[in-house]
Amino acid sequence: MVTADGTPWHYLDTAATAQKPRAVIDAMARALGDNYATVHRGVYTRSAEMTLAYEAARRTVAHFIGGHEDELVFTRGATEAINLVAQTWGRATLKPGDRILLSQAEHHSNIVPWQMVAAEVGAQIDVCPLTHDHRIDLDAAEAMLTEAHKLVALGHVSNVTGALLDAPRAAAIAHKVGAKLLLDGCQSAPHMGVDVEALACDFYVFSAHKLYGPTGIGALWAKAELLAGMPPYQGGGAMIDRVTFAQTTYASGPQRFEAGTPAITEAIAFAAAADYVRNLGPHNIHAHEQGLVARLRRELGAMNDVTLFGPDDSAGIVSFAIDDIHPHDLGTILDESNVAIRAGHHCAQPLMDYLGVPATARASFGLYSSEADVDALLAGIARTRKIFGRG
Ligand code: PMP
Repeated sequence: MVTADGTPWHYLDTAATAQKPRAVIDAMARALGDNYATVHRGVYTRSAEMTLAYEAARRTVAHFIGGHEDELVFTRGATEAINLVAQTWGRATLKPGDRILLSQAEHHSNIVPWQMVAAEVGAQIDVCPLTHDHRIDLDAAEAMLTEAHKLVALGHVSNVTGALLDAPRAAAIAHKVGAKLLLDGCQSAPHMGVDVEALACDFYVFSAHKLYGPTGIGALWAKAELLAGMPPYQGGGAMIDRVTFAQTTYASGPQRFEAGTPAITEAIAFAAAADYVRNLGPHNIHAHEQGLVARLRRELGAMNDVTLFGPDDSAGIVSFAIDDIHPHDLGTILDESNVAIRAGHHCAQPLMDYLGVPATARASFGLYSSEADVDALLAGIARTRKIFGRG
């Protein structure tokens, strides 16, 4: 990767947001340019074509995760998708005394919406601990779950450690007590093949911008029977069947949750991104990234002032800390050599508390990452050590 002036740039922050391939940029430009029109309303040809393209995008994105288009709602992103489930399914289902199981490793997006709905309905939140290598401890989860639990909401892959959840087992233990399983797929969809049927989850959410697509769009996949029972989220145009002042009825299917003019061009570019990843092969991307993760973990693991977080098979993400060098200092010095990592709490403050650190340094890989990126990061770490007087 290079900067605008052609200087090498080592982008190691794909877990925050991925750089876009030309195919996605071109798809978005075409949709915004020559093909642009609104959807679902126009009687003229271009609008009808745009409607077909928008619905084809829904099909492509749904198929990308092994789902059906009737089960896929476009949202502003994973955050909005989780809020949608909390505010519709959650409010309609949860009663005082019900319980929700989250884990210590969750992103704030998979904590705060549940805290909000729990406070509204009088439900309680339980927190599943982690194993010694920072995986979600499903033995502990199984022991904690009771008939009072109506929902288990877990990250499929941690955005801090890259730890992968055993989703089918999580589904089995959730379903055993009659709870639903929501998977936060933000960090799994870009790094591995996802099949919601095989994962056996009830809800799966992800964001396009982490999957090489645009910002401002993401998706909620929910089992058709769950979606059918969920009340609408926001009111407005496009989500209705018939409006009168006496009574309004709602559209069926995903459209019931898509009030207003949708993110048309973003949806089309989202589908282009899904196609791009599918054509490359999620398994090839996973294998490529795992090679880089393995090398980086090996090299960092050999340094006696480095603490590595997460398991060795972390998916595309390596979080670490260097004794007495704050991750922000490391990130700032690395930036001087055009190495971009993330330093901070990664929107996972409860996990930082658990790990006993204020922040971590995080290098995350994408399909375009290379050995040269790892070389540059390691050289930058050596330089940082020198600046801190560590030989
Ligand atoms: N969950 C996880 C695991 C994430 O990594 C992120 C993004 N950092 C989110 C949720 C929220 O995604 P978005 O900001 O795109 O809604």
